[in-house]
Amino acid sequence: MPHVVTGNCSDCRFTDCVLVCPVACFHGDDQRMYIDPVACVDCAACIPACPVQAISEIADLSEDQRMWIDINAEKSSSTPVIRSKQTPLPGAEERRAALGFS
Ligand code: SF4
Repeated sequence: MPHVVTGNCSDCRFTDCVLVCPVACFHGDDQRMYIDPVACVDCAACIPACPVQAISEIADLSEDQRMWIDINAEKSSSTPVIRSKQTPLPGAEERRAALGFS
């Protein structure tokens, strides 16, 4: 099952994930990142790369996170592929701290 970007990415968008993905399946807009579920090969390399633990395998999602499956599929089809690390959004470090990550 593909991996998905969940709510922790919102308002920070660190994009470390794109540096480890072997198939360039990360897409993004001005708020967050999305994984193309067709392109994802389930290697799991992106999970430890994310500084706010925003990425999960679908089977590991809690019930209240399952909405991200459709959001990733829909938004990845309408946003550009992101292949290089981007500047995090303003407030990203504060967002990371608020989420409990150092
Ligand atoms: Fe890319 Fe692997 Fe993460 Fe899928 S699991 S998004 S292929 S790094």
